[in-house]
Amino acid sequence: MTSPHLQLDSVAVHAGREDLAELGVHALPIDLSTTNPLPSIEAGGLSYEAMAGGGTPNAEGGSVYARLWNPTVARFESALARLEHAEAAVAFSSGMAAVTAAILATLKESGRRHVLAVRPLYGGTDHLLASGLLGAEVTYCSASRVAAERRPDTAMVVLETPANPTLDLVDIRAVVEAAQGVPVLVDNTFATPVLQNPIDLGAAMVLHSATKYLGGHGDVIGGVIACDERQAAALRRVRAVTGGLLHPLGAYLLHRGLATLPVRVRAQQANAQRVASWLTTHPSVARVHYPGIDGDPQGLLGTQMDGPGAMLSVDLRGGYEQAERVTAATGLFTHAVSLGGVDSLIQHPAALTHRPVAAEARPGAGLVRLSIGLEDAEDLIADLDRALAAPHSISFSATAAPVQATPETRQESDRLLVEAAE
Ligand SMILES: *Cc1c(COP(=O)(O)O)cnc(C)c1O
Repeated sequence: MTSPHLQLDSVAVHAGREDLAELGVHALPIDLSTTNPLPSIEAGGLSYEAMAGGGTPNAEGGSVYARLWNPTVARFESALARLEHAEAAVAFSSGMAAVTAAILATLKESGRRHVLAVRPLYGGTDHLLASGLLGAEVTYCSASRVAAERRPDTAMVVLETPANPTLDLVDIRAVVEAAQGVPVLVDNTFATPVLQNPIDLGAAMVLHSATKYLGGHGDVIGGVIACDERQAAALRRVRAVTGGLLHPLGAYLLHRGLATLPVRVRAQQANAQRVASWLTTHPSVARVHYPGIDGDPQGLLGTQMDGPGAMLSVDLRGGYEQAERVTAATGLFTHAVSLGGVDSLIQHPAALTHRPVAAEARPGAGLVRLSIGLEDAEDLIADLDRALAAPHSISFSATAAPVQATPETRQESDRLLVEAAE
């Protein structure tokens, strides 16, 4: 039994494992059953009804069918809930499945359809909200505009902090206050529960793309939402009918990942701090986006968020063309989207993760995003030093800065490159 008074590191190692001794096992068991033997029609039926209503299986009837309940997934959920200081958590097949369920459940429960989306958001979330697929009417705004944009039919506020890819910090407590009782969903993917617990600041739901830091090894896609039991029931009802389930193998990997989450996040953060401060001195770098580097006017570092984390972005003086060269020239940094794993990644948000975002909200053409891993910090710096020195055309640089990475501008950049070479 894990006591409620344990520190984060102990919770990360032990939470969600309370029933293992009773089962006579030490490692997390993986239950792959899609269906479960029914003790009787009556007991099975009652358990089915409890789960379809968003509850947990009852002991007599069992878990019936894996779209309703799976014990391996439930253990991961209870561990994540503990880490996020929440009553419950509900896991999904991806971060986007979790975002979808959160919006559908909240619109359905509230009978409202207006969503306030605080930009910047992850490109997929921004795009899903804009798509109209979920029946939401969306207003995009900055954190400071939430009180003004809130309407009587506003169902929820969605925000992300640190935001992706600008690493802007949003004051969660201030947005919760401005929302005046409208539930606030915080995407906590970048901060992780190691650095930030939005529930303690008044958030109603905390969302993770578990694919990133929670898994931490780049080998599982998943999503999870921590919240109170009432909202968890609404999310389970949506999950049961729409089927965006986390597979038990994924749940196993994510739960195993939680044990090392605090150690990984702190070590990756220490690396990121060294890489970020080195980048501020580099002549090719116009600006480093990293919490605390350009000051912290709202005083959120050390209060809302325990540390700056391990994600950063840089504006390259050489614009899109230099971004092309740098991403092609790194060795230790893999040129790939995603983040939060033990190995370092580099990518160009405007062309990739934020490609579906409306042009006015898309990141700049010279912005590249780095996810700092567990390699030696000096090796990472040496790799970036080499990549930033990769030759690029000075005559092109001056024109590249304001260019957005769209197919048209990429043709334009190809034309300019040819001209520069001639
Ligand atoms: C990756 C990501 C998502 C989407 O998660 P998937 O697991 O890829 O579906 C949502 N929010 C943030 C901040 C992310 O980085």
